[in-house]
Amino acid sequence: MAAISTEQAGAWLADYAQVIGENAAMLTDLDRQTGDADHGSNMDRGMKAVAALDVSSFDSPGALLKKAGMTLVSNVGGASGPLYGTFFLRFAGALDDGPDDASGLLGALRAGLEGIEQRGKAERGDKTMIDALAPAVEAFETQSGAGTSAALTAAAKAAARGRDEATDLIARKGRASYLGERSKGKQDPGATSMTLLLESAARTLGS
Ligand code: ADP
Ligand code: MG
Ligand code: MG
Repeated sequence: MAAISTEQAGAWLADYAQVIGENAAMLTDLDRQTGDADHGSNMDRGMKAVAALDVSSFDSPGALLKKAGMTLVSNVGGASGPLYGTFFLRFAGALDDGPDDASGLLGALRAGLEGIEQRGKAERGDKTMIDALAPAVEAFETQSGAGTSAALTAAAKAAARGRDEATDLIARKGRASYLGERSKGKQDPGATSMTLLLESAARTLGS
C-alpha cells in the first residue's frame, strides 16, 4: 500500500483537470504577458487527455500517475509538458516505493520537485513553477507530523505564497527570461498552475 490509493490519485487528476479547464484562460493570459500565450491551452490539452484515462485499469497509484506523466509529455508542447510530466513520473515512482503515511507523500513530492529541477536546470528564485513547489514541499515536511491533511493544507498555502513572492523576481529561465527586468511584477504562469495542483491535492489526497 502506498500513501494514497489509486482512487485518490484518480480524484486528484480529475479535480486538477477540471480546475485547469476553469482557469485555462487566466493562465494563458498570464503567459501572454511574459511568454507566448499558451500555458492555459497547453495544460488544458494535457489534463483533458489525462482525465480520459480509465482509473480502474491501474493497479497502483504510481501506475496511474506514471501514465499521467507520460500523457502530459506526449500531449503538451512547450516547457510545461516535459516539466509536469517529469513531476508526475518521479512522484509516481517514489510513491509506490515509499511508506504508506505522510512521509511517503513527502518523499513523492520531493522526488517530483527534484525531477523538475533537473529537467529544467532551474532552482528556486528563477521565477518558475519551482517557486511554488519548493516552499510547498518544505511546508509539507514541517507539518507532516500532524498528518497528511494538515500537511497538504500547509503545502497549498505555501505554494500560493511562493507564487506571489515570485512575482517581484526577474525571470532567469524559460521564455519570461527574454524580458529581463520587464518580467518583474508579472505573475508567473507555471507557479500559478503549480499552486492549483497543490490546492487540488489538498482537496483530494487528505485521508
Ligand atoms: P512555453 O514557455 O514553452 O510556452 P508554457 O507556457 O506551457 O511553456 O509554460 C511556461 C511555464 O513553465 C513558466 O511560467 C515557468 O513556470 C515554467 N518554466 C519554464 N522554463 C522552466 C524551467 N527551465 N524550469 C522550471 N520551470 C520552467
Ligand atoms: Mg507559453
Ligand atoms: Mg509555448
